[in-house]
Amino acid sequence: MTVGQTEGGVCDAVIIGAGFAGVCLGKRLRDAGITNFRIVDKAARPGGTWHWNRYPGAACDVQSHFYCFSFAPNPDWSRKYSPWDEIQAYAERCADKYGLRPHLELGREVKLARFDDASGLWEVSCTDGGLLRTRHVIDGSGGLHLPSIPRFAGAESFAGASWHSSQWRHDVNLAGQRVAVIGSAASAVQIVPEIAKTAGHVTLFQRTPNWVIPRRDRAYRRWEKWAFRHLPAVNRLYRLFLFLRYDWLAYPIVRTAGDSLPRRWAVSQFRRLLNESIPDPDLRAKLTPDFPIGCKRVLLSDDFFSTLTRDNVTLVTDPIERFTRSGIRTTIGAGKELEYPADVIVYATGFDTQGHHLEERVLGPGGRSLREAWAEAPMAYEGCMVAGFPNYHFVTGPNTGVGSTSVIFMIEQAANLILQCIEAAGENGLIAPTEQAMRAYDREIQAALAGTVWAGGCKSWYKRADGRITSLYPFSAQTWRARHRTLRREHFDVWPRRPA
Ligand code: NAP
Repeated sequence: MTVGQTEGGVCDAVIIGAGFAGVCLGKRLRDAGITNFRIVDKAARPGGTWHWNRYPGAACDVQSHFYCFSFAPNPDWSRKYSPWDEIQAYAERCADKYGLRPHLELGREVKLARFDDASGLWEVSCTDGGLLRTRHVIDGSGGLHLPSIPRFAGAESFAGASWHSSQWRHDVNLAGQRVAVIGSAASAVQIVPEIAKTAGHVTLFQRTPNWVIPRRDRAYRRWEKWAFRHLPAVNRLYRLFLFLRYDWLAYPIVRTAGDSLPRRWAVSQFRRLLNESIPDPDLRAKLTPDFPIGCKRVLLSDDFFSTLTRDNVTLVTDPIERFTRSGIRTTIGAGKELEYPADVIVYATGFDTQGHHLEERVLGPGGRSLREAWAEAPMAYEGCMVAGFPNYHFVTGPNTGVGSTSVIFMIEQAANLILQCIEAAGENGLIAPTEQAMRAYDREIQAALAGTVWAGGCKSWYKRADGRITSLYPFSAQTWRARHRTLRREHFDVWPRRPA
């Protein structure tokens, strides 16, 4: 293909990302009779985050019967918290079931989305030189896919292999190896128990201890799977039960500041798990957070604490000073250093979540970039659209993250609003929220966030350096659903794409 050449005619929509957001929006477009769209993803397969995060022990910490589409229940989940390969297979089955394969353009990375003032269309250019012209862009690229790899002094001198949790080197056999894991949050609590089963030694470098409560994972029994398969009402009721449990129990735990029954219950769960798993009081002290529960993501694990008592596992809480050829050095005070030998270093250090990649690659009318629009702060009306960027829709934009429900539920509701926007724009129209509506929404969100536990005394990826919370949604899943059900036309401007 010639560089910069436009492929085919004008599409109705280009969906960026073939994860759950892309699959859901693709299905919903087809339901609405819109078939002229493409789903572009840099990965070789659909699945999004589950295509990338295949580290040992990877599983979702939201229960599987709720971590799936309401329109595609899966009676065959093997466990309460199914492993990544089942989730990945489920995403692919959905892509097949809803006829999305012909729309998929995999192994293709979007470089830039630029609004063409002359035509009122978006031009989506890809790193392979291709150019797609489209009426709408649906950005389903999500927030957790750009690895954050801290720069440690001497990193280049380390002689062994090293990689980020989302770029797992399955070609390296860790059996008998000395593995250093940096970071002790959501990814690490899944990785460490799994690799400790075969590694020679695992050294876990923890900077901040986390609140960890039991996951109570288990395999589903045969009769349960039979009931899920043959009695659809059981499936629906179970999903409803999970939805309500997340909204009524998990939501008050991870959001509200101060004392409450659910929060006290969660703290007692942590203490019981810690005390039952770890006899050594020094080790227990190192694993006890000093910030309020919920301020950072509450972790679910049945075996993380007990793994730390294994002979072949060491928890290190001294700060990392530098890497050497043969391992990692920490400072232990009074200018003294200790070296921990390692053959492999795993960065379980999270993701770049501040949306910088988006800001750079979206140019709206008049060449105004999202970076300029978000100079003050990233914001989007109901998490989905930015004033001044017509027909550009986010599935999970700023302030849409949740630690207390299923992101797939959030995606389905966002799809309701996006589809209504597309319908309201019509074939030749442009739609965008008014600046006033977007700012009023942002003020409401930020005011609510100020009263949450996330605003309190801890450092987390939920917020920027200046303390503004840009990732999380402060209200319940029920509120999200209610607000995305009906388009409030008065909050939008709609105008013809071409001058009449
Ligand atoms: P994360 O929550 O951002 O945690 C990164 C870890 O690396 C933290 O322990 C952090 O310590 C540590 N770290 C970062 N920079 C460091 C440095 N320079 N020196 C030492 N330690 C450093 O990343 P994650 O565990 O990959 O999880 C990211 C998100 O992915 C989660 O919050 C969740 O939303 C999602 N996730 C979900 C699941 C699931 O089951 N659904 C599983 C995994 C991940 P500090 O705490 O001190 O910053």
